[in-house]
Parts: sequence; C-alpha cells; structure tokens
Amino acid sequence: AVAIQGLNKWYGSYHALRDIDLNVAQGETVVVCGPSGSGKSTLIRCINGLEHHHSGTILANGIRVGQDARSMREVRKNTGMVFQHFNLFPHMTVLQNCMLALVRVRRQSRADAEQVARTFLARVRMDEHAHKYPSQLSGGQQQRVAIARSLCIRPSVMLFDEPTSALDPEMIKEVLDVMKSLSNDGMTMICVTHEMGFAREVADRVVFMDAGAIVEENTPAAFFTAPRHERSRQFLAQLL
Ligand code: ATP
Ligand code: MG
Repeated sequence: AVAIQGLNKWYGSYHALRDIDLNVAQGETVVVCGPSGSGKSTLIRCINGLEHHHSGTILANGIRVGQDARSMREVRKNTGMVFQHFNLFPHMTVLQNCMLALVRVRRQSRADAEQVARTFLARVRMDEHAHKYPSQLSGGQQQRVAIARSLCIRPSVMLFDEPTSALDPEMIKEVLDVMKSLSNDGMTMICVTHEMGFAREVADRVVFMDAGAIVEENTPAAFFTAPRHERSRQFLAQLL
C-alpha cells in the first residue's frame, strides 16, 4: 500500500507537486493521467525516492520514503519501477538481467536466482527467450522482460511510468495484457498511462493531475462519462 499526505516538491522555484494526498490500498490499481508537465513522473519518482520531496509524507508499505539510507533500501526492495524506456542491460541476456539484483543485492545463490527469474519470465511469457540479448527482442518483448525483472525483487507495489508510450501500436497490447493480469492477481499498481482503454477496464480509480495538483480522483466509470471538473472534461475531450 502507498499513503501520501501533503506532498510538495519544487524544482528550484518551480512548484512541481502541490499538496498531493493519495492513498492506494493493497491490491488496488490506480491510473494517473494528465497533460504533459502536470507532475505525473515526478509523483512516481518521489514514491520510490528517485526524487526527494520537500514536505509531506510518503509511506510505501509502511516505510517512510526519504529518511535514511537504510529505509531507502527497504523502499527500493518494496517498489518495482517500469519506465517508458526499458533500461535493460544490453550486454546481458534476458535471464542475466533478471538475476542481477537477486545475486548482487539479495546475495542469493545463482541457482536460486535463476529459478526466481525463470518463474517471472514465464509469468510474462518470455521464458523461451531467456538466453537472448535485449537487441534480439521487439520493444514489447523488452518491456515484458523489464516487468519480469522488477517482479523478481518481489515488490509490494509496482510503479509504471508510461510503459507503452515508446512502443509500436502492435506491441502495446501484449504489455497492457501483462499489466492487466498482474492487476487481476492482486498486485498493487500505480500506472501513469495515456491508455484510457486500460484505465477504463483495469483501474480501480483514476487520478487526474494538472499543474502539479490532483484535480480529480474518481472511478473510471464516472471519470470517463461524467467527470467532475471542467479541466478533466477538457483533457478527455482532447483525447478523443
Ligand atoms: P509528461 O506527460 O510529459 O511525461 P509529466 O506529467 O510526467 O509530463 P513531470 O516530468 O513530472 O511531468 O514534470 C513536471 C514539471 O516539472 C514540468 O514542468 C517539468 O518541466 C518540471 N521538471 C521535471 N523534472 C525536472 C527537473 N529535473 N528539473 C527541473 N524541472 C523539472
Ligand atoms: Mg512523465
């Protein structure tokens, strides 16, 4: 679960996040949307401590984000992050990419790490490609491997920042399908995405941000048919 209260962040004098309150319960899937520059990536990056925040509190699985180095290691262990660009290591095979953190950080034996990695590669239907290098895979396949790699650390929450926006249209669905099945299996997920079909079908809640603030938090059904705010309405109108 993630609990955010009174979160503020500045980049220099620019107020990037304004009094954000957001609670994501265990097993919930929340989609975050909003115009470019509204602070979606900044919010996601604050949750796993990639960016530091200036006021307010963030609890990730009960651990306060942005305290000391030790608690940050706990936060990193508990949060999986998937970016727009897959960030796989090009000189390592799919299997090695997935095993890396388990061997280096978790100090697991290679045999144990391989077993875990193979389990999660199977989960994203990439086990048959375990010995390929990232350059030998399509974008959609690389992103599925990136998801498997994050799952290997067994996070309690998965953070996605536009995981499909760098993909060709025919590969978007295979990645969204993996995300949907994770959500159905009860993973706690916060997803920044412009895929409104995914939001409609999979999200428990939609959060709409504008200018660093949460403007509307709603069920997908209500958000897409009867948004409460003029700003949300404009955003949706421009997507259609
Ligand atoms: P997009 O949809 O384009 O990805 P976003 O909603 O993810 O946008 P952010 O990347 O969170 O937006 O950026 C929010 C605001 O903060 C923007 O105005 C951006 O220019 C600014 N910003 C982001 N990162 C930095 C940084 N490292 N230094 C200074 N300003 C930044
Ligand atoms: Mg962004």
